Amino acid sequence: MKKKRFSGGIYLKPNWSTDDIPVETLPALSHVTIPLIQHDGAPSDPAVQIGDHVAMGCRIGSPSNAGAVSVHASVSGVVTDVARYPYSAQRNAVSVTIENDGNHEFASPIPYDKAWHESTPAEIVEKIRLGGIIDNGSPLADRLWEGRERRTDTLYINALSTEGYSSADARLLVEQPQKAVLGLTICKYIVGAENAVFVIDEKRTVVADAISALLADEGLKDYSVLKLKKARYPLQEDRLLLAACRGIELCEGASTAEAGCTVVGIAAAVAVAEAVTELTPSIWRIVTIAGPLVSLPKNLLVPIGTPARCLLEVCGVDLGAMKKLLFGGALSGRSVQDPETPITKTVNSLMPLGAMPAPSTLPCIGCRRCRAVCPVRLEPARLSRLVTTGAVDELDEWYIMECIQCGCCAWVCPAGINLVQQIAYGKMLRSRLPRWNGAPAAKAVYDGE
Ligand code: SF4
Ligand code: SF4
Repeated sequence: MKKKRFSGGIYLKPNWSTDDIPVETLPALSHVTIPLIQHDGAPSDPAVQIGDHVAMGCRIGSPSNAGAVSVHASVSGVVTDVARYPYSAQRNAVSVTIENDGNHEFASPIPYDKAWHESTPAEIVEKIRLGGIIDNGSPLADRLWEGRERRTDTLYINALSTEGYSSADARLLVEQPQKAVLGLTICKYIVGAENAVFVIDEKRTVVADAISALLADEGLKDYSVLKLKKARYPLQEDRLLLAACRGIELCEGASTAEAGCTVVGIAAAVAVAEAVTELTPSIWRIVTIAGPLVSLPKNLLVPIGTPARCLLEVCGVDLGAMKKLLFGGALSGRSVQDPETPITKTVNSLMPLGAMPAPSTLPCIGCRRCRAVCPVRLEPARLSRLVTTGAVDELDEWYIMECIQCGCCAWVCPAGINLVQQIAYGKMLRSRLPRWNGAPAAKAVYDGE
């Protein structure tokens, strides 16, 4: 770990127009299809069979591997299918389809024994684990426990939105401030932090006002606010946030806990409060639907597993004119082809797009703009060249696995080179090879001997 300020990234003109739109609950649907993997880790195993009756909150996916997370029924009804369905453009996942019986029967997977402030941190973390809470693509229980073991001194609360339209955090701070504070207080107790810092964009007035009111009303003495000027994308990444807030650059594979910090988001804090005090697992998500094709932008509260098409129709999107659908922001969002793809725990916004001009790819002109914006200081042009020429054995020397696939390099490339896809392909090739350490045996594998 070394001292270094955050460099690179790009400033995307913010669009916070949906911050003022109250959250609406989407009416109950006839069925949901819930993937048993919803984050960057391992999938869970099915815990139900076709024909089973499940109540809302029942566990339908059991985490049998490290890195897997519990998955729960978001409606009550009968399981009608357990099969592979697409959950992103490239991937299928074993998913559980539940026919909604409309009874809203609820059965908590989290036992109640005592109030949270009488529980040990380990007992609370177990409840968060049973609640299947994911934050920023990873299991929150693991992150909080690592934060405790490594003696976190500061809890950073990421309330930035540096890309796209997502207003879920802003609306939660406005509409459910006490629940957000309760969740943050529980997280702070678990990791043992002395201080908590809200990190916000100084111009995002809805969030700034909501936090000021919170600090005044709740008398939160250990909390402070860090206002960033023109926060650049992709500062929502935990380790980059740490570089911007604390001036610490983490080495490859290091976690923020190693620097004495734990980062949580607002939606995760609210989910913690619900799991620990209301015994409700992670079964819903606030999704912002906005963009050029959306005539009625909305913030919708939807059960996990709801097909994206239902949200788009409620927001007046002409599905015939839609040529591309992004789950997430313009740069980090996943492009999905099928509007029936379900909403998962990590989807905070939908952006439908119309016809776009075909990309014109020219040869690299060596301008080095891609290098200047790379937040982890890689050489995207060189990596792209190594991948396209098949020089896979050199990718490690240029730290290809450090790439966070933020898309900044492709965004600024004047030649329109598909840098992110090429680097992602290189990472996939690299991950299939044994780690190169100079050993003759490993080299023999590389050389095909
Ligand atoms: S996609 Fe990878 S190489 Fe490109 S800017 Fe982001 S981290 Fe750097
Ligand atoms: S930004 Fe594009 S054209 Fe410029 S050096 Fe990088 S890959 Fe080449």
